Amino acid sequence: MDRADIKSMSFPRLAEECKEMELPSFRAKQIYKWLQVRGVESFDLMTDLSKELRSTLDKHFEIFSCSIKRKQVSAIDGTVKYLFELNDGELIESVVMKYKYGHTICVSTQVGCKMNCAFCASGLSGFVRNLRPSEILSQIHAAQNDLGISISHIVLMGMGEPLDNFDNVMTFLELVSNSDGLNISMRKISLSTSGIVPRIYDLLEKKLQLTLSISLHAPNDEIRSSIMPVNKKYGIDELLKACREYAKLTSRRTSFEYALISGVTDTDECAEQLASKLKNMLCHVNLIPVNEVAENSFKRPKSEQTERFIGILEKNGINATVRRSLGSDIDASCGQLRNRHKEGEKSVC
Ligand code: SAH
Repeated sequence: MDRADIKSMSFPRLAEECKEMELPSFRAKQIYKWLQVRGVESFDLMTDLSKELRSTLDKHFEIFSCSIKRKQVSAIDGTVKYLFELNDGELIESVVMKYKYGHTICVSTQVGCKMNCAFCASGLSGFVRNLRPSEILSQIHAAQNDLGISISHIVLMGMGEPLDNFDNVMTFLELVSNSDGLNISMRKISLSTSGIVPRIYDLLEKKLQLTLSISLHAPNDEIRSSIMPVNKKYGIDELLKACREYAKLTSRRTSFEYALISGVTDTDECAEQLASKLKNMLCHVNLIPVNEVAENSFKRPKSEQTERFIGILEKNGINATVRRSLGSDIDASCGQLRNRHKEGEKSVC
């Protein structure tokens, strides 16, 4: 029989399990702390529990964790990229970036991805499975324990589509923001989506204070549908309507990710159209010169064109920045490391 996923359990659920095992209530608190704060990978490391109890727990429960398969550190800015191995041998990626205000981790939410965006390396080898709440959390624990740091901010922007793994992502958010766990406030978390509109409304109902980040990448349905298949189902106007509602309800500004692809999304006309679509919205645009991946022929614009693009947005009163590209020497963008590894590159760690 499969052992239960103890790290995905809320405290009340864990307390219930402990009660059934006739353990005193303080034990649940101890175990919860080991799992949620310290992020230990084995019951054997729970040194304030008896050996007998540790072995009983191991019979009933499994701790889903991430072990480091490969680690790359950028010589330019110290960005760290991990390739993690999960308990079942699947591989996922996370990236830790250092900013003035603290450490941000970019976590994966699925193994592979179903969205098939043309410029992205994550969907190339298809969708494998959803991550459990514990497996999303374990990326943070593994990075913190390896680097000896506290992560202060989280972006759900790694491999996978968070809103396509809705329930597990919601449980992860509850666990990570719990004051007896890592206690990272929703205000320091961003969730990035390719735009699954009905799930944005589901998220809205949760009334969370997290930042909604939309991978927009194009100003009209024609271009967007050609690079993001999800747009054929939920068009731009429908998507922006959901964003407006989200911003109205939470008073949080929406963040739009916009990849500048030479000759496809970076033209002056695109900039003008984008400015008119986002007019009067509570938002910020993050321009990302596309990361060139080996698997497609998309190219970054020349820096003059990036400047022109941002200039047009600003002239129209749209708040925009060009995203600082961190970890450019270590392939620190979605899916690239996992794909390389699967192609058989040797591990460096
Ligand atoms: N599925 C979610 C989150 C994962 S992708 C989403 O679509 O938002 C994280 C971000 O990286 C997204 O904005 C995605 O569009 C972007 N991205 C993927 N590949 C890229 C590339 N080659 N260059 C620039 N941005 C890329």
